[in-house]
Amino acid sequence: MSEQNFDLVVLGGGSGGYAAALRAVQLGLTVGLIEKDKLGGTCLHVGCIPTKALLHSAEVADVSREAAKYGVKTQFEGIDMPAVNAFRKGIVASKYKGLQGLIKSRGITMIEGEGRLVSPNTVQVGADTIVGKNVILATGSYSRSLPGLAIGGRVMTSEQALELDFVPQKVAILGGGVIGVEFASVWKSFGADVTVIEALPHLVPNEEESISKQLERAFRKRGIEYSLGVRFQSVTQHENGVVITLENGTVIEAEILLVAVGRGAATAGLGFEEVGVAMDRGFVLTDERLATNIPGVFAVGDIVPGLQLAHRGFQQGIFVAEEIAGLNPIVVDDLNIPKVTYCDPEIASIGYSEAKAAEKFGADQISTVEYNLGGNGKSSILGTAGSIKLVRAKDGPIIGVHMIGARVGELIGEGQLVVNWEAYPEDIAPFLHAHPTQNEALGEAFLALAGKPLHA
Ligand code: FAD
Repeated sequence: MSEQNFDLVVLGGGSGGYAAALRAVQLGLTVGLIEKDKLGGTCLHVGCIPTKALLHSAEVADVSREAAKYGVKTQFEGIDMPAVNAFRKGIVASKYKGLQGLIKSRGITMIEGEGRLVSPNTVQVGADTIVGKNVILATGSYSRSLPGLAIGGRVMTSEQALELDFVPQKVAILGGGVIGVEFASVWKSFGADVTVIEALPHLVPNEEESISKQLERAFRKRGIEYSLGVRFQSVTQHENGVVITLENGTVIEAEILLVAVGRGAATAGLGFEEVGVAMDRGFVLTDERLATNIPGVFAVGDIVPGLQLAHRGFQQGIFVAEEIAGLNPIVVDDLNIPKVTYCDPEIASIGYSEAKAAEKFGADQISTVEYNLGGNGKSSILGTAGSIKLVRAKDGPIIGVHMIGARVGELIGEGQLVVNWEAYPEDIAPFLHAHPTQNEALGEAFLALAGKPLHA
């Protein structure tokens, strides 16, 4: 039994929590970082990194299937799932080791165990009392299910799906959001038959509608089935598979069902409500400076309502560390955070969609351009179709960038600079992009928006 005192106590060592700890020690604060499982959290162990390793294996499978198209003689013989998993685990292990070393070398005190908030400045970890002048709640999220849909056996979340050591022949995926379409893409490339079920009218419903429609066409072309605008009704499991019935009477049979219907905040039973932290359906409510209603208690990452993305968690962690150190950091709105969906084709976006911009400013107060990647040399070499759509406030800055196509996740870096700097197309259109790159397509779209289209 002991008591330890710090300038800052961070509860949860995922993207949000460890970023806060790193920045706080840089600023001269003493930090106790409490983690019950593995430093790095969801993103490193069961989220961003392992899924992107799977997606890379999937891309290699597709390339090797199509090698003859590029004049390369090779024979695609299939997927060796244990080897795919070994690759995935190797990447995660090396990043985990690096992170552990970094945290140790920076003088952050790691406290292993499950923490519970017992007063505004105290977290109890087993018999140990951890006291902070400030506390950051960063306990992350968990895979949700639907009422009446029990997870277990052949009905699984992304955590169990990651660990499969075989390629299922037929997969159903409930939820056509980011996680659902990424797994759909992987399994299709690995050779499975895939059906996605989405209650809303489009796949990736949080994206620009024209982008969702292009993804639907691309998925159809790849042979990925989907049912849109229809709700799940029931599922039964039998020895060899699952039978899913939808509200419209459609019956889908599959070997497994992946439930990807969103993530809830991992806050139950952690004492937050008892201490008086304002919450809404498990999420911790904060002001725009990420302060809760309790002085000295902040929250970051997936437990704060809004986008659930690792880089948002990092940024919020850094923000709160700087706030506590008195640096008065700049607030970053969710609209100014880039989002990438790493399926094939990839989707990347930032800022206002056309519909949201029209709703906020009026349809006559915005303009848009859409540039087809078919006109871009590098896109043709990479072999995928797609487009870039820009939204502009009338005679003002670019307020939205939306893309679909091969590797557009790497292009959104430029899109986020443009939106965050509130760039005017006339100012940036003269800047050159190297030829041949897909970035040139962004340059073409800037030119078109500035009224000087070159190839469009
Ligand atoms: P977490 O990373 O969940 O970390 C919370 C930590 O707190 C965990 O380590 C947990 O063990 C610990 N903890 C919880 N309760 C306690 C307690 N009581 N005591 C001590 N420790 C506790 N985001 C992207 O930006 N890009 C992607 O490509 C991407 N892909 C994803 C793919 C999948 C399949 C999933 C599930 C998520 C993906 N995400 C992605 C989202 C990303 O993983 C999360 O947004 C991010 O991990 C949130 O960080 P966090 O710090 O809020 O929470």
